[in-house]
Amino acid sequence: MLDDRDRIFKNLYGYEDWGLAGARRRGAWDGTKAIIDKGRDWIVGEMKASGLRGRGGAGFPTGLKWSFMPKESTDGRPSYLVVNADESEPGTCKDREIMRHDPHLLVEGCLLASFAMGAQAAYIYVRGEFIREREHLQAAIDQAYEAKLIGKDNVHGWPFDLYVHHGAGAYICGEETALLESLEGKKGQPRLKPPFPANVGLYGCPTTVNNVESIAVAPDILRRGAAWFAGIGRPNNVGTKLFCISGHVERPCNVEEAMGITFRELVETHCGGIRGGWDNLLAVIPGGSSVPLVPAHEIADAYMDFDTLRGLKSGLGTAAVIVMDKSTDIVRAIARISYFYKHESCGQCTPCREGTGWMWRVLTRMADGRAHKREIDMLLDVTTRVEGHTICALGDAAAWPVQGLIRHFRHEIERRIDEFSRNANIDDVGILDPVAQAAE
Ligand code: SF4
Repeated sequence: MLDDRDRIFKNLYGYEDWGLAGARRRGAWDGTKAIIDKGRDWIVGEMKASGLRGRGGAGFPTGLKWSFMPKESTDGRPSYLVVNADESEPGTCKDREIMRHDPHLLVEGCLLASFAMGAQAAYIYVRGEFIREREHLQAAIDQAYEAKLIGKDNVHGWPFDLYVHHGAGAYICGEETALLESLEGKKGQPRLKPPFPANVGLYGCPTTVNNVESIAVAPDILRRGAAWFAGIGRPNNVGTKLFCISGHVERPCNVEEAMGITFRELVETHCGGIRGGWDNLLAVIPGGSSVPLVPAHEIADAYMDFDTLRGLKSGLGTAAVIVMDKSTDIVRAIARISYFYKHESCGQCTPCREGTGWMWRVLTRMADGRAHKREIDMLLDVTTRVEGHTICALGDAAAWPVQGLIRHFRHEIERRIDEFSRNANIDDVGILDPVAQAAE
């Protein structure tokens, strides 16, 4: 369990002043100039040594990502930092708490990260629905300008401007290249990679896109040292992490914990246990709706970190832990998630545009048992034709939950099909009639 002294987000619940005075009392903006005086290479080296892996879902090492940015501009193009605050993954609600309750951690992190990457401007792309979050964030930026902590002529000696951009509520704009398109004023559709943003990003210039939490923890890492951060958690999965625990626990909550805490300890310590007791646990989606579910017996004592959950054929993702007890209609729950990805597909690639809708329609039938058993393998086959065959990872995100369902709950789908066919002549209800399917 995380020691209180090791907490980075000391105002996660908003009990204290979120403004500059409160942030300073909690340690923000302390020694920032001394950190900058140590130079870009020192900061990037320290971030690498800290072992921080990106908190937006992919878990790519943050320091390494920063090191991909050009050291000098040889062609006159500026560099940019872009912060992805388009938090839209179902189940995830951590970045919004940082923005509304401790926004100065993010503002200070933007300055330090931008300095480390030679960027004199940064943009924070905030999810369209986050109104109060944007207000607090903008107010914190205004305070920082007024106190000359950022701006052209600031006390830290690195001219730096920070802008907040409000999205319009599209999930796909959380994909980094779609975000850049949207920031440029275009339709939010992912770009083909390569080129990667570190070479050709915002306005065609070198750009790094980082998650809010990744940037907000950077000042504390640089103040307290890489060894401190690397000493928390488990090998290759270090530091503190914000977990968003929702669903069938006694007290759903957001909490900062040590990476690699077990699921059982996380839920017992912070959520009052599983609703109805541990025997009532059915499955958990451990990292936001795009990762495959993990059944109760596999997740109960698993370490909540990138590598352990990947070993369980799932993922830590954004650490949005969705707990489902035995009252859950698991097939319908995954069908609902499929509907979400169908709805949010930008439509550029055929496998995603067509496949997401197809998966949703078949799953909806399966939730009622209105299907043939052979369609389960057909559905699985379609997921593999979507996964890895699209421009961006939304195709994977749509395929993985379905794969997880079939891997662990095939018997439940089959049970429903048996039950339905006992009560009806399935060929009479037109489930294999393409016209009837298209109408669903
Ligand atoms: Fe758009 Fe889906 Fe293709 Fe991503 S995978 S670019 S969301 S159609």
